[in-house]
Amino acid sequence: MSEKRTEISDLGEFGLIDRLNKKVIIKNPSSLKGIGDDAAVIDSGDHVKVVSTDLLMEGVHFDLSYAPLPHLGFKAVAVNVSDIAAMNAIPKQITVSIALSNRFSLEAVEALYEGIYAACDHYGVDLIGGDTTASRTGLAISITAIGEAKKEQISYRSGAKENDILCVTGDLGAALVGLQILEREKQVFLANPDMKPDLEKYTIVTGRQLRPDARMDIVHELGELGVVPTSMMDISDGLASEIFHICKASGVGATIYEDKLPIDKQTFDTAVELNLDPITCVLNGGEDYELLFTIDQKDFKKLEKHPDIHFIGHITKEAEGKYLVTKSGTAVQIKAQGWKHF
Ligand code: ADP
Ligand code: MG
Repeated sequence: MSEKRTEISDLGEFGLIDRLNKKVIIKNPSSLKGIGDDAAVIDSGDHVKVVSTDLLMEGVHFDLSYAPLPHLGFKAVAVNVSDIAAMNAIPKQITVSIALSNRFSLEAVEALYEGIYAACDHYGVDLIGGDTTASRTGLAISITAIGEAKKEQISYRSGAKENDILCVTGDLGAALVGLQILEREKQVFLANPDMKPDLEKYTIVTGRQLRPDARMDIVHELGELGVVPTSMMDISDGLASEIFHICKASGVGATIYEDKLPIDKQTFDTAVELNLDPITCVLNGGEDYELLFTIDQKDFKKLEKHPDIHFIGHITKEAEGKYLVTKSGTAVQIKAQGWKHF
């Protein structure tokens, strides 16, 4: 009898996680939220703790031929802090685990940690532990971040309701475009090692890819303004994919407007140069680590003038579906592409 074999690629990352989650039965009342959000939420008396883990693998998430080690260390922390930010919580501690091949010297590990320490300073978090092991397949970095919030301040993916306003921070698509430039210059260099990479024109997009910054500034400002987003997540896989997650978790639909989508001029120009559609980059580009959130209409006045928060659309009934209204006024269904690792 032949054993049944199902390819992970048939399920996809989210299908796999759903399947694993089905068999999980929560035993402890303090586990307020388990699998399925940007971070888990744990009851901790007068407040809650939030916990998130990410694993970065050489060859999948980063390429050491163009990712400087200090930037990589910073990014590994930032992507975890971003998941804590996405819960509207404040990060406090991290643990760092690394698997090293014999290619790495002490100097290389110290360069990586230079970025980790810089991120700890930048976000006000303490490095409190981790694990170190050998690797036969390249560098792996796994970071766990722990944050805190008052219970009523937590923003889950599931709280969006009809008529809420959809907001995004910063601008989108830069990290994807930056990656394309880095890949292009790598190929040029491989073909002719005497050629100097031409990256000066592209510092915003390559910077976003190599050293993204989690939007803790926004979380602090929302706190100061007394706004708790009705739902929130960070944009790691692409805006379209994240809208799907919020809609699914909240049981709602959404309409967004092309002319409201934020894109930096350098991202736009570079996308055009690369023969990519800038709006596709905004919708499906991953790794910008901006925040996508919904607010109740009553909070709009408080955020209306914020220079770095953009109001891209609104939440509708689930049956109304998920639509992008183009500049010409046509409504097209949003497709969630996102990043596919499998
Ligand atoms: P994010 O992109 O915000 O980091 P992910 O898409 O990686 O979130 O994960 C979604 C949810 O699935 C999170 O709650 C995460 O903790 C959980 N998850 C991911 N991989 C696993 C796994 N192998 N086992 C259990 N839970 C997982
Ligand atoms: Mg996330």
